[in-house]
Amino acid sequence: MQQEADRCVKCGLCLPHCPTYALDREESESPRGRIALLQAIASGQVQPDEAITHAIDDCLSCRACERVCPADVRYGQLFDAGQAMLAEHAPPRARLARRKAWLLHHPTLRRGVFRALFLLQRLGMVAIARSLLAGTRLGVALRRLPTLPWARRPRRGAPPPQGQVGLFTGCLGEGPDQHAVRGAQQLLSAAGWRWHAPRSQDCCGALEQHGGAGGTAHQAIQRNANAFAEHTHIVSLASGCTAWLQDADHSASSDDRPPPFNGRLTSLWALLHDAPQALRLVARDERVAVWLPCTQRNVLRDERTMLAVLRQVPGARVDVLPVMDGCCGAAGLHFLEQAERADRLAAPIVRALQENPVDRLLCANVGCRLHLISALREAGLPLPVEHPAQWLASTLH
Ligand code: SF4
Ligand code: SF4
Repeated sequence: MQQEADRCVKCGLCLPHCPTYALDREESESPRGRIALLQAIASGQVQPDEAITHAIDDCLSCRACERVCPADVRYGQLFDAGQAMLAEHAPPRARLARRKAWLLHHPTLRRGVFRALFLLQRLGMVAIARSLLAGTRLGVALRRLPTLPWARRPRRGAPPPQGQVGLFTGCLGEGPDQHAVRGAQQLLSAAGWRWHAPRSQDCCGALEQHGGAGGTAHQAIQRNANAFAEHTHIVSLASGCTAWLQDADHSASSDDRPPPFNGRLTSLWALLHDAPQALRLVARDERVAVWLPCTQRNVLRDERTMLAVLRQVPGARVDVLPVMDGCCGAAGLHFLEQAERADRLAAPIVRALQENPVDRLLCANVGCRLHLISALREAGLPLPVEHPAQWLASTLH
């Protein structure tokens, strides 16, 4: 970690791009400030007290700083290594990260929770619980809960060798992200690809990785590497999960370890763009805004291909929201754990949509969508917010 941190020349060019620095204008809330704090902890100059830990934890892992850094500081790696170091100083941190993500690795229980919430929402009991728990973390989580669909197991498709595209559905792919999964399956089939969603796949482990429990995260990566061992392409739909799967491949390569996915992670948009069959799409007279999640804009960088595919829909006007360098504030569990800050970060996006009325908003990360649905609802602007694959699939002939 120290070596990576030492690449920072403290030029400050990243500061104007950092959303947390824009909120508070505090050096400790900037990439340069956080790197200096991590260096001071690593060298034993300071002990991580509450204020220091807080400043590091406020980072959204948006990696806007990494994108603009002239010294190529790999801030994403540095942040995860910093979290692991903080967990060494305070072991309960890693335990907490594992506890928060525990349910995500148990598909049957997960489905049970989604179904229970679906029924409670229909019976109006979530609204009652929300008012009883107002002000608590659970109350905030319930307030942010969108209307859930009935949780269903994803369709599995044809296993390899016929199903050459492995579909990573993620831990929310049978709950809030199920329309995105179904949309991607319809699009891949229409484009002439055979796909398969292996039953043995696991949650990606990003929450543990960013919470200092890297060992548990890498176990999840290994389970997924085994589940997708036979596929020639691997497509993941939520940009946050995809970024971590891609990082796992890159960091293994740079450490001379075998990359778990062996460079087979492929953007859905690249597959649709270069598909064996052209998509047949019906016209849509719609104005569509696209919010690019940080992980898509700063890590995956596949937005140009995605926009080129979306703009094939005749009659539709597809534009990226004019909010520069912003992060919506979802950032893993940040929108539940630091709701007030997350709302401040989402405010410019809500304002942009109020000033530029559209028919729907598209966003390729499930966490960002959940947060934006709630922010728009609170602002009295209940727009449909969908994964781009869901919308594009709805225009198939
Ligand atoms: S732009 Fe890069 S080198 Fe400059 S302060 Fe930021 S992280 Fe350090
Ligand atoms: S990752 Fe984002 S929030 Fe964190 S320091 Fe970099 S720009 Fe700021």
